[in-house]
Amino acid sequence: MRKVALIFLLAVLLPSALLAWLAIRSLRDQQFVLERQQSLLCQGVADNLANEVSNLLATRQRDFETKVDTLLASKKPVDSAADFDEQLRKNWPLARVGFVVSLDGSVLAPSIFGGAEARRFRLENDKFLCNRESVEVYLNSSKGEINLSQLESEKLSLNEGQASFLVSGKTGKTRNIVPQQNAVTQQSIDNNASNQVYSKLASSEAEFRQLVGDSREGTLARFLQNKLNLMFWYRSPRDLHLVFGALVDLPKLSGALRALVRVEPALADEIAVAMLDDNGRPVAVAPADFTANWKRPFVATELGEALPHWEASVYLLNSAAFTQAARRLNLAVGLLVAALLAAIIAGGWFLYADLRRELTSARQKTDFVSNVSHELKTPLTSIRMFSELLAEGRVSDEQKRRSYLQIIASESARLTRLINNVLDFARMERGEEKYRFQSCDILHVVRETVDSYRAHLESAGFYLDCKQPEMPAFARVDRDAIAQVTLNLLSNAEKYSNDQKVILVEVEKAGRWIQLRVTDHGIGVPESLREKIFEQFFRGDDSLSSSTQGSGLGLTLARQIARAHGGDLTHETPPHQGSTFILKLPAEDSAA
Ligand code: ADP
Repeated sequence: MRKVALIFLLAVLLPSALLAWLAIRSLRDQQFVLERQQSLLCQGVADNLANEVSNLLATRQRDFETKVDTLLASKKPVDSAADFDEQLRKNWPLARVGFVVSLDGSVLAPSIFGGAEARRFRLENDKFLCNRESVEVYLNSSKGEINLSQLESEKLSLNEGQASFLVSGKTGKTRNIVPQQNAVTQQSIDNNASNQVYSKLASSEAEFRQLVGDSREGTLARFLQNKLNLMFWYRSPRDLHLVFGALVDLPKLSGALRALVRVEPALADEIAVAMLDDNGRPVAVAPADFTANWKRPFVATELGEALPHWEASVYLLNSAAFTQAARRLNLAVGLLVAALLAAIIAGGWFLYADLRRELTSARQKTDFVSNVSHELKTPLTSIRMFSELLAEGRVSDEQKRRSYLQIIASESARLTRLINNVLDFARMERGEEKYRFQSCDILHVVRETVDSYRAHLESAGFYLDCKQPEMPAFARVDRDAIAQVTLNLLSNAEKYSNDQKVILVEVEKAGRWIQLRVTDHGIGVPESLREKIFEQFFRGDDSLSSSTQGSGLGLTLARQIARAHGGDLTHETPPHQGSTFILKLPAEDSAA
């Protein structure tokens, strides 16, 4: 039994538990991959928006250069400087101020008399444009690394002696927003979360001349009183000594950028896209009515050095639904796995219990065969011995002869009873037992059976009392079957009595029932075995039961017969030591 339990544990339970664990793990992996895919998809959307913004800025930069070339076409570049601001603003709507700076550090335009805007521009930018002041400018850190070293070498080669170019190039500044997904996923994937929290832009301090270097054109972003100033500049091939530039009108540029912020129809149900300015406020949102905690997008990409700290952000429209669906799936799989394990354990337990039952039954059958062999052998030995004595004429005493003949008769009856029990049981097992029901007086059947057994009991020292009512008690029964039940009960009362050899047989009519009660003063039946004694092959394991011959079939048969008659056989413990077996049979309608 222990071996079976071990095999079940090793061959069924452990592999099942392992498979369940693998299933849950692979589900988690799957979920992680799904989340990752979703975040990559959204990251793609954000990156795409950032790319479109840089393309638009590049286009505007080229527009600016074309415009400058057109303005310079009719005059010498240096002569164009005087009215460059006015002309540029007139011809290129994105310009707020147009400026011209010579590389040796003098600002040729705008004129400080050109209006309030021009005056303010000169006030804020003169020192920087004249190379008398370094300002903080921004570089993408990917190329920033290169640029920084490039700028370092420029510092050495270009302006020896007057090098005031301070490179503080660090990617240490925190971003205005904290993307949810990047922070989490990156942390778990490559512990690179800091990349998402900190800006990719490097800030450097540089003078205008150093920024221009040998380049022909460029973009320049700087913050003045916390406000972004974006400038395009260009050196015409006709006069490389002059730098023509424009302070870009940001609100107008934002108008153009707004058109880029849109969501593809396929993703319209899932995400919203926003462009955030350097204060983390939305410049444009799609769909237009979407609002959220702008600083906690799902993913985000910085727009780059031209628009420092501006972000292309993507938000999930139903992030709760996504996590809830994942949680529901987890719960469902957990429950399924638990149910599977419970089913396996329950199945295993039933198998184990069934196997135990089968083993007990097999053991009982073996005991039964040896019991029956014994039961057959004992009476046969007596019958043979006494019949041989009588046959050889060696017994002259008449009384002895009669007692020997009586022994032979009662032992034969015992044999018949046993064989009848076994045969009836076998027939019942095969479902072949047939009863010949007929109306008869139970009192008569019981009296006849008791009388046939009385001599045997009295010779064994028993006192047998039989109490019956005056009136007959009719029932539709198989006479022989009821006689067999009575005999089995009497035989048991005899077998399981020790010193107090008193047996009481009572028949009474109670309502529509006829009851036969057989009471002895024997060993009794413990409470716990009250029902077990009716099971096939069951034999009590007390010393008397095991020393007494028996097949374990008598009560099984008796109860089956009683139930086949529409009645029952039960056990009761009388007030004194011993047992009472009650056979209940339905009484026949007296009128019938
Ligand atoms: P058997 O008597 O051949 O063992 P039974 O089916 O007649 O088989 O009885 C089953 C068990 O019930 C017996 O082994 C015994 O332990 C218990 N039993 C039956 N009758 C009595 C009784 N009158 N008093 C005490 N125990 C009894």
